[in-house]
Order: sequence, then C-alpha cells, then structure tokens
Amino acid sequence: MNVLVLNAGSSSLKFQLMNTKTREVFTKGNCERIGLTDGIFGHVEGDGEKVKEIVDFPDHGTAIRKVIELINEHGFEMEAFGHRIVQGGWHFEDSALVDDEVLAKIYEVAPLAPLHNYAEAGVIEHCRETYPELPNVAVFDTSFHMGMPPAAYTYALPTEVREKLHIRKYGAHGTSHRYVSARCAELMGKPIEELKLISCHMGNGSSICAIDGGKSVDTSMGFTPLVGLPMGTRCGDLDPGVMQFIMNKYGMNIDEMLNVLNKKSGVLGVSGVSSDFRDLETAADEGNERARLALDMFDYWVAKVVGSYAAAMNGVDAIIFTAGVGENSGTTRAGICKYLGYLGCEIDPEPNKKRGEDICISTADSKVKLFVIPTNEELVIARDTRDIVNG
Ligand code: ADP
Repeated sequence: MNVLVLNAGSSSLKFQLMNTKTREVFTKGNCERIGLTDGIFGHVEGDGEKVKEIVDFPDHGTAIRKVIELINEHGFEMEAFGHRIVQGGWHFEDSALVDDEVLAKIYEVAPLAPLHNYAEAGVIEHCRETYPELPNVAVFDTSFHMGMPPAAYTYALPTEVREKLHIRKYGAHGTSHRYVSARCAELMGKPIEELKLISCHMGNGSSICAIDGGKSVDTSMGFTPLVGLPMGTRCGDLDPGVMQFIMNKYGMNIDEMLNVLNKKSGVLGVSGVSSDFRDLETAADEGNERARLALDMFDYWVAKVVGSYAAAMNGVDAIIFTAGVGENSGTTRAGICKYLGYLGCEIDPEPNKKRGEDICISTADSKVKLFVIPTNEELVIARDTRDIVNG
C-alpha cells in the first residue's frame, strides 16, 4: 500500500510517501515556516535529488495542498494517509482509523500538547475534506506507553486531582522506541517477548524507554515532553520550587517561565553555545568549559536513567541508541557507556566510529549488548496505517 505519512509540527509539515511492502520512498520532504513569510518547501526525489523552493505557507492547509500537488505531478499513487499524533492522552492505546469520534478525541486531549495536536488535527481535517475517499489513520506517540504499570505512570499527587484531570505520565517518542526495540530483537535473533531492552532516543528532544517483553514499562518523559533528560533547549527534571523562586525574583508569569524551560534551557542554557551537539563537541574540544559541562551532564543523566531502568526491569539484555545524537555521536555513546561497566556493558571503539547504520557496538564479551539503530517512525506509521485499513 502507498501511504502518505504526515508529521505536522506547530510550523512545519514533514511528509513521506512510501510503499509498505517494498519500503520504497517515492518522495519525502518538509514544509517549513508555516504561518510565516518565506516558507521553505524542501523535498527529495526518489533518485536522491534535493529540491528547495521558497513558497509561502499561510497555514497547514496550503502546505498539504502543495505536497499533494507534488505527488500528482509525478503521477505517484496514494492510497491512505498516516498521521503522526504527538498526544493520544487517555483515549488511545493503539493507532486508530480516523472518524468523527476519533477526531473529536484528538481535539479533546490537545491541551496536553497544544503545539502539536491542533496542527495535526487540522491536517487530518484537510485530508478528509479534500480526499473523502481515502482513509486516515492516526498513530500516537503516546500509545506505546499506555500499558505502563500504575507504579510507573502515577504521580504522587492527590488522587482526586489526578483522576479528574487525567494527570499521569504519558511519555513520548513511542513510535521510535517501538521501532528500534523490534529491530533490536531481529538483530539479536531472539523473540522480543524474551528481551529486556533500554532504548535511548537522543535528538533535539530526548527520552529513554524501558521495554520488557516488547512493552514499554517506563519512560523518562512525563505528562509533557519537558521532563526527564536535559535536552537541546528543554530543562528536563527540575525541582518545581525553582520555578517559584525564579518567577518571584524576576516577576515572571507561568507562561514566561515555561518558555524559558522549553526554549532557553537544556544544553543550550547550560553551555550558552548551542542546542546542537555538533557545536557543543567542537566548543568543548576548543576548551569551552560550559559546553563540556553540558555534554557531561547529558551523558550522566542518560547513564543514570539507564541504570534506574535496569533496576526497574531487574536486568537488561541490550541498550539501543537512536535519533540524531544517538545515531551519529560516537563520543556521546562512549561517554554514556563509561558509567555502565557495572552492568556488564563493554563498548567496542571500532564499530562505535560508524554512523547512521544498524550496528552492534559492544565487544563480543559484553554481557549487555549495545546497538545503534537508526529510527524509522515513518515506516511504523505506514505499516500501522496499512494494517488498520486492511482490518
Ligand atoms: P528531532 O528531535 O528534532 O527529531 P533529531 O533526532 O534529528 O532531532 O536530532 C537532531 C540533533 O542531532 C541535532 O541537534 C544534533 O545535536 C544531533 N546530531 C546530528 N548529527 C550529529 C553528529 N554528527 N554528531 C553529534 N550530534 C549530531
């Protein structure tokens, strides 16, 4: 089946048209700066040619129309839409065929992820109106985590408030954790039901997931994607008392405070250099101490969460690194593994030099295996779409 996978952000729309059987990608790209002037329409043709055009995208509707124009120009066939939805809230334990009720639920939980869900739901509405004959499937980043045990997802808050407002840990990056854990089991040649895995998705946003027998049993992001590890610009775990202290000192309101925690914190905030790990590695090599601290903090946090998940599962068979930093930064992987000797993790420096391919980077003797597995969320979304459409 040819599925157009759509991933809408607040000001972007990533797309990929792929065949679920052959995995052939006919075209893919990104509409950037939606809602602003000088939008960028970038796309890659099947032969690898990269094209960039300046196109104004006043809204997501204009962007999706442009994508479909491109598909039609090339005469590619499109049989279904697969939508990445960041937040499924308490409603969705699995991907779902979109009807009026499903769409209403996506809107209902949108306040939990306002930057994403409203844009994503808008794109679904546009696809349904313009192509009523084609099915739409919603694939939620949160659904993989909905089977976590209550001890892992419950916050120690008054029950009345928690239950009334559906406050719990929802996690994120579920589609990525699901893909790399299944791929890891394949690479290990073992049924996933028999494996305890820890997946480290490390990109601009980062989260770690404990996967026992193929199911997420804990993850580092929470009610929102602000917590857990320090990230590119997000603060990660923080004593809530710090917020009150800063807000009082600087006369900030809660929105201003959250803007700092979301956009000006993380490794950017600590280093004062950049949110990009490549820039931080260069700066640290040149002797910038704050950049070094930001990188050290990141490694330390990943190692600490990995250790806590090994404890939560009473063991771990393999640790997976994925996403921009996980797939590309051998120094970050090595920095994290320095802490993990007690678990029986031994990294092999040679394969650890490689980038962007499925590869085992632990020594033959390493008790816990280490893998780099490039994530492929689009493939999971396309396959879920096919399976749901085919009933
Ligand atoms: P997103 O969370 O936006 O999907 P990605 O998974 O694409 O992010 O990761 C983007 C990040 O990956 C960049 O900000 C950069 O820090 C990091 N990255 C990419 N290539 C490298 C590299 N060669 N070395 C270190 N970090 C890298």
